[in-house]
Amino acid sequence: MHQHWGRIGNKDIHLFCLRNNIGSRLYVSNFGATAQAWVVRKRDGSETDVLLGYDTLEEYQRDEFYMGSVVGRHANRIGGGRFSVDDKEYRLATREGGYHLHGGEEGFNKKVFDSHYDDASPGTIMFSYTSRDLEEGYPGEFRLEVSYTLDDENCWTIKYRGTTTKTTIINLTQHAYFNLSGVNNGPIDHHSLKISAEHFIPVNELQLPTGELQEVAATPFDFRDFKAITTEMNSAHEQLELSYGYDHSWALETLHTPALKHAATLREPSNNLQLDVSTTEPAIHFYAGNFLDGRKGKSGQRYHKRAGLCLETQHYPDAPNQPAFPSTVLKPGEVFESKTIFRISEPFI
Ligand code: BGC
Repeated sequence: MHQHWGRIGNKDIHLFCLRNNIGSRLYVSNFGATAQAWVVRKRDGSETDVLLGYDTLEEYQRDEFYMGSVVGRHANRIGGGRFSVDDKEYRLATREGGYHLHGGEEGFNKKVFDSHYDDASPGTIMFSYTSRDLEEGYPGEFRLEVSYTLDDENCWTIKYRGTTTKTTIINLTQHAYFNLSGVNNGPIDHHSLKISAEHFIPVNELQLPTGELQEVAATPFDFRDFKAITTEMNSAHEQLELSYGYDHSWALETLHTPALKHAATLREPSNNLQLDVSTTEPAIHFYAGNFLDGRKGKSGQRYHKRAGLCLETQHYPDAPNQPAFPSTVLKPGEVFESKTIFRISEPFI
């Protein structure tokens, strides 16, 4: 089932509704492969929309927060906006501070994807997009497929698959902002979080990795057991001051293994919802919505600082310039594959 949402150039933009058999719906668009709403039906019959977003395509076109979209070609920061592959240096768009962020001036979040949807499989959609050679400065023509599935366990499964014609760098993520109390019910302050990681990736004053991994033990970055997000977020820890709150990657394993593993669990006790994140990626970036600035979102609600949070599964930031980090290089003949599952449940009976 889908709704015509608008037109960009000669391409139609749609808002599709993926449904499962327990009454939940995930609304997604071929603009930026964006997830616009995830309405979760609870056991008591009530519904909660757990995703921040906008009502109209025009607002997504103007968006500066990567609201619910796929981020690419290379998510997160790249120092100096430069990297080298095959002995050749490439330059990418930079922001104030001199780093590249989330794919450049017009990343995948603003691209029109082709969509492949079949009414016979109402829980699944596939988006595809071909990024031309040197688009946003990245080498190689990159062909990407992203599939979304919503199943009866309330799992939103995201699969990425891509190939390139020249050696390039790829780091893809989904930039959904979650709020398990419901998008119109205040900030994320009452959420608690657990992250399956012994180490996080400290940053410098440009929020670029220093290149080290630091143990989470005895720091505000220790989420090995459930902890309220706000417990230490405003503490005078240098890393939190540099980023205005949590905006860091946690290393899920030192080496990239293709197996799906638990990354994080987010809980909101008063609405009794839980989000479990598992991924094949080596890191999860927890961004606490520190830079949201009160702009209007769905139903005219203002999204102030910390109205939602992102749990972005991906490779480490600035991987192209950090030889010790798992590589994000993709070569012709190789296939880029990555999978992440977001599952929503009610933890307490
Ligand atoms: C980054 C933030 C950035 C935000 C933009 C996040 O993924 O970690 O530093 O400001 O995206 O919306």
